[in-house]
Amino acid sequence: MAIDLAALRADFPILDLKVHGKPLHYLDNAATSQIPRAVLDALNRHETTSRANILRSVHFLAEAATEAYEGARAALAGYVNAYAPEEVIFTSGCTSAINLAAHSFGARMVPGDEVVISLLEHHSNIVPWQLLRERRGIELKVLPVTEEGRIDLGALERTVTPRCKLIALTHVSNVTGAETDVAPVVAAARAVGAKVLLDGAQRVPHGRLDVQALGIDFYAFSGHKMFGPNGIGVLWGRRELLAEMPPFMGGGEMIERVTIAKTTYADPPHRFEAGTPPIAQAVGLGAAATWIERLDHGGAEEHVHRLLERLLDGLGQVAPAKGRLRVLGPLGLQSRFPVVSFAIDGAHPHDICQILDQHGVALRGGHHCAQPLMEAFGLAGTTRASLSYYNTAEDVDAFLTGLDDALRRLLR
Ligand code: PMP
Repeated sequence: MAIDLAALRADFPILDLKVHGKPLHYLDNAATSQIPRAVLDALNRHETTSRANILRSVHFLAEAATEAYEGARAALAGYVNAYAPEEVIFTSGCTSAINLAAHSFGARMVPGDEVVISLLEHHSNIVPWQLLRERRGIELKVLPVTEEGRIDLGALERTVTPRCKLIALTHVSNVTGAETDVAPVVAAARAVGAKVLLDGAQRVPHGRLDVQALGIDFYAFSGHKMFGPNGIGVLWGRRELLAEMPPFMGGGEMIERVTIAKTTYADPPHRFEAGTPPIAQAVGLGAAATWIERLDHGGAEEHVHRLLERLLDGLGQVAPAKGRLRVLGPLGLQSRFPVVSFAIDGAHPHDICQILDQHGVALRGGHHCAQPLMEAFGLAGTTRASLSYYNTAEDVDAFLTGLDDALRRLLR
């Protein structure tokens, strides 16, 4: 069934904004998506009816806050199809989720153990492992990328050795939009007894997923890219792995008993949530997951696919870009999400973004926190357009017209 786009857009008050006197065409969804009323209402309701600290006091508001926070955990557990809500750890974002995994899961690694990443990773899934390399003396091994902007899974066999403890890869690239085929990754990991972590920051806005069916061990993502608030994210981990992992941060709420001589720790997930967590943000993220689940997914994904097709086709037609355009990522729609990065010989991404901003079009230009990938492609940066459910054909057309204008000015 086709989605009711007008009704869906009406859920997002910010889309009525005018930018430089033009309608807003928001195509920077891979950086941050906008927030629907359901999430704004949940935040407002929480802060006006249930604001208190959790797990501490027994008064009415404290119990309401605890219930709302744990309810959000259950909603997220349902969204990713966790085995149990206790497998969902709230963090401040995808970056902190991966750092948590690197510290806690990495704590038992010894010199010579190996972690495999890829050239397609966001810095968030590179630097925490480099820091672990400094702390524990591990080896970091890197899968290459294909011309098409996918992780070269053909290299798994020669890269994954019996010393490998973890394969940590992006589920969907924030630069090329390519989706990683997870099954061969899990098979390669299992063959040597290693675990698999996926960076799901770019996958989670596109509907429920099933960590059980994927067969993975850890999944990290942010709230602000999936219609939720800033300052919240999730590390999902298998219960039995979390149970064995030491805490990352110490403080209140993560303990069982503290004496000056020795402290014992709470069970997961609280072991990994030291201090007062981002309570309202977690509640907002729970509401965001529920909002996504209620969308008609057949219609919504088909809508986004049609826009992606229009954008990719349209890019090839922008007259001044002819012979100068390079799209970094699959040109087909198979196993691909609506993130489109491109480079135009002779036009700097920041200049393109600035001119497009005058057209009301929000894009992102730069290295997208993926400098090793940019280096592999021989580029300093790209311009990126990324789509969401609320985008329209007019948004795509405004982008294409604006790009034509920008290139006529920049390539004179
Ligand atoms: N991984 C990927 C693939 C991303 O796109 C991002 C955000 N750009 C991150 C990790 C980091 O997310 P955050 O900044 O929300 O921690």
